[in-house]
Amino acid sequence: MSNSLPTQPETYAESIIHEEYDVPPGEDPVATCPYCERPFTSEQLATVHIGVRHTDVCSEAEREAYEEELEAAEHDLFTFHAKAAVSIFLIYFMFSFIYSLAWID
Ligand SMILES: [Zn+2]
Repeated sequence: MSNSLPTQPETYAESIIHEEYDVPPGEDPVATCPYCERPFTSEQLATVHIGVRHTDVCSEAEREAYEEELEAAEHDLFTFHAKAAVSIFLIYFMFSFIYSLAWID
């Protein structure tokens, strides 16, 4: 069984290429895609969108910005994993130490 999507977009029941976006009144998008007009709440999201959706038409600078954004995301993810691992380690030994106190009496 294959989980991959059909390669031809026209085989979808509805087109997912041309989308409409509702920006709530009073909110201005921070960035807008220059290729498909999609609004974004941050420059980072727009950079990643251009790198993923418009990789064949985007400029070299946009591609480099996308790759820098990916590296920054990987660094953030590694930092999160390191903090989570250290936290679990400390909690484990804190409970082990507290449990050992129960045997002192
Ligand atoms: Zn776009």
